[in-house]
Amino acid sequence: MATKEIVIDHLTKEGVGVTRYDKKPLYIMYGLENEKILANIDYVGKRNVFASIDKIIEKSPCRANPKCSVYYSCGGCHLSHMTYKAQLEFKTNLVRKIYKESGFENIKIHDCVGQDVPFYYRNKVQTPVKRNKKEIVAGFYKEDTHEVIPYDECLVQDKISNKIVKQVVAAMKENKIEPYNEDTETGIIRHILVRRAKDETMLVLITKQDSFAGRGNFVKSIRKRIPEITTIVQNVNRRHTNVILGDKENILYGKGYIEDTLCGVTFKISPKSFYQINKEQCEKLYTKAIELASISKDDIVLDAYCGIGTIGMIASKSAKEVIGVEIVEDAIKDAKLNAKINNITNCSFVCDDATKFMLKNRQGKVDVVFIDPPRKGSTEQFLGALCKLKPKRIVYISCNPETQARDIKYLVDRGYIFNEVFPFDMFPQTFHIETVVLLTLKTPK
Ligand code: SAH
Repeated sequence: MATKEIVIDHLTKEGVGVTRYDKKPLYIMYGLENEKILANIDYVGKRNVFASIDKIIEKSPCRANPKCSVYYSCGGCHLSHMTYKAQLEFKTNLVRKIYKESGFENIKIHDCVGQDVPFYYRNKVQTPVKRNKKEIVAGFYKEDTHEVIPYDECLVQDKISNKIVKQVVAAMKENKIEPYNEDTETGIIRHILVRRAKDETMLVLITKQDSFAGRGNFVKSIRKRIPEITTIVQNVNRRHTNVILGDKENILYGKGYIEDTLCGVTFKISPKSFYQINKEQCEKLYTKAIELASISKDDIVLDAYCGIGTIGMIASKSAKEVIGVEIVEDAIKDAKLNAKINNITNCSFVCDDATKFMLKNRQGKVDVVFIDPPRKGSTEQFLGALCKLKPKRIVYISCNPETQARDIKYLVDRGYIFNEVFPFDMFPQTFHIETVVLLTLKTPK
């Protein structure tokens, strides 16, 4: 294998090092900007070259030793070979570059808001369970395979969840409960799902069959091992599919759901409910979004792409009225229930396509619109309908600054102005970035 001394020029948006080689881009996993390395040239293609680090000759000051023992084989995290300060700078600079490339020169890009402890933040953990020869293992799928690699502790998962995964495996061994085997179609447990709220913990056992021998003793053994668990649910998934959760549920212990509070509003979380993964950072993001919206008691607010209604319900305290629109029916059911739990009476939730809803209701007066679309961003139809609605302020939350910048360009070309972007680090150690932007109508109606 050829080796070559190279200097890494910059990083891709996924955090991969790049430089030029033979007039082609050369990609080096785990390489850092300005680092001089000895690279193993692993693959030379027509358009791209891939290399790995043989030796670092001049180390970047941004380089850190990953704390995680499986960082280089798991693939779940992407930036743990950088100091946390460098991860945040990488994200801020990436947002700056994306906005600049979209033609926004004089926009202030604020520093990416980091997490005080950038580990143990994931409040939802799901792991496959398999038998690896003699051992039952729970862990992660090795890239592009069905092989499960066990880990001792996942550093971005909540600490109690890590403990629960291990103890469920131990309880399986003790009670002779087998993991499900796709090839022979025998065995019981397919996945373990753990969801954590401030004071409550839910364990979901995803099984192939509805009932199975030894279930009662298995549950007793789990409860004894992990007193922190407040509810255990069995989810039955009979299908041959990559979708983890099936339709049928049996509550094996406790009330079958947990409750968490986000910016002072309580949310009920069932095994399937959508809920933000990093609560601490989410509260920072939502607080900023609501501050930017500067809602007053006369304002009618539309929360488009509302999910389970989180942003709208938090905003409802200062608004006259909030309408949430979301395309997934179960999420709307959760939103309605959550409004009830919190005695919120000025919020209503509609299950509809957000564009259709806005077109039907454009005569109505809406002052503020929150939009929080999926990664692919919004659509021209949606943005067109939004412009017809003419809200005074639009707060755009995004998990993909590229599609956000594209959508913002559309709105800016049609009379909205914006001056600043606020990036937040919702997923430390990974390349994901969330941003929030306020757009205001130039000539308010
Ligand atoms: N604002 C919520 C959820 C954001 S995720 C929160 O922060 O919790 C984006 C949501 O947009 C998803 O719930 C998805 O189901 C919804 N969605 C996607 N396309 C949609 C459309 N055309 N109309 C309405 N909602 C849509």
